[in-house]
Amino acid sequence: MKDVYMPVEWQSGGGETGEIGYLNPNDQRCCGHCGVRGTDHEQYAYKVECTICGYVYGANGSDMHKRRCPACQRGAPAIRYWKTIKS
Ligand SMILES: [Zn+2]
Repeated sequence: MKDVYMPVEWQSGGGETGEIGYLNPNDQRCCGHCGVRGTDHEQYAYKVECTICGYVYGANGSDMHKRRCPACQRGAPAIRYWKTIKS
């Protein structure tokens, strides 16, 4: 198996909570999305970084404002935020 490197461009989503650099009340930072759809209706999957433990994961844009870290805050399981060959 060979990993294919695919360059992605991170972009901010709509609203304050979708902006790159947005920090929610649970200390989760929004890193933007790269066009991958989330699991929620009409949502993008955002890359989110926990500023407490450093865990990086994916979350729906609609959850961004209240997201908790799956690693240290018992948040919901992460979703895929990166592009694959098929998407
Ligand atoms: Zn964490």
